[in-house]
Amino acid sequence: MFSYRHAYHAGNHADVLKHTVLIAIVQYMTQKEVGFTVVDTHAGAGIYRLDSDAAELSKEAEEGLRQLLKSAADQGIELEEMLGEYVQELERFNPSGSLKVYPGSPLIAQDYLRRHDKLKLFELHPTDSRMLEKHVEQLRAGRQINCYKEDGFEGLKKMLPPPTRRGVVLMDPSYEMKSDYARVISSVQDSLKRFVTGTYVVWYPVIARPEAHDLPRRLKVLSQEVRKPWLHATLRIKSGQMGSQLDVLGTNNSPKRPGLSASGLFIINPPHTLKAQLKVSLPQMVELMGQDALAGFTLESGS
Ligand code: SAM
Repeated sequence: MFSYRHAYHAGNHADVLKHTVLIAIVQYMTQKEVGFTVVDTHAGAGIYRLDSDAAELSKEAEEGLRQLLKSAADQGIELEEMLGEYVQELERFNPSGSLKVYPGSPLIAQDYLRRHDKLKLFELHPTDSRMLEKHVEQLRAGRQINCYKEDGFEGLKKMLPPPTRRGVVLMDPSYEMKSDYARVISSVQDSLKRFVTGTYVVWYPVIARPEAHDLPRRLKVLSQEVRKPWLHATLRIKSGQMGSQLDVLGTNNSPKRPGLSASGLFIINPPHTLKAQLKVSLPQMVELMGQDALAGFTLESGS
């Protein structure tokens, strides 16, 4: 346990997908005046340096964010709205113009919150939870943000329902342990009992592993049981490899590992605008980051 560090993966294609969608959802939530709560059950360190040893060893941002920007510039392609907003958000964290830092989900979410919205962050890794606390302190956001060095699946229970009955839960485990898949399912099931109208965003790796394959199918069943709408998006940037999960998701290891080629997001109670937005942004992500003929996306929904 705890060999996963997001510093090796910051800005990869999975982050591009996840953070683009996170921004669209949080922005949507701010359209109503009533405050809301964002719970990030697996928060990471909060912000990462793209020139760190970790990032330079893995080179994952090269295939993700940097490739997106390079292809758009080389081909003179204007970014569509969702991706444009994501890139503008990164620019706000890099005012000098050169891309040095990459904000993780906590700092991205916080940047869109109003003063009366709340952010609850869970991170278990001893080093990353300390770094997260430090980064959050620098925001001087006071009681708007709480950091917990606790298990995010367990901690989520005490956050639901949020006081205003409006909330977004991002569940973004490292899947370092096989049990994470089952824990995601039971946590979503429990959360829907506590707060059935919440928006739940689950990230998962698309890899050759039965648990990963089953996850979206099982989440679909849970949504259908409570008769709530769902959206399922996947993004593949290159032909898949069939390595073991740790080879694929990576820890602190060799730059030779093939890297994750595809990831998915399953969203329960998505904003009604999100599917139309993704219909435009997913093809552009493929166009800009896709590496071979197997690059592509899927988008399905139900209610
Ligand atoms: N959500 C972050 C982002 O998008 O910037 C990235 C999170 S990373 C994929 C997953 C994080 O979950 C790691 O930092 C890991 O240490 C942490 N973690 C693993 N198991 C956990 C648990 N049970 N509860 C809380 N955090 C956990």
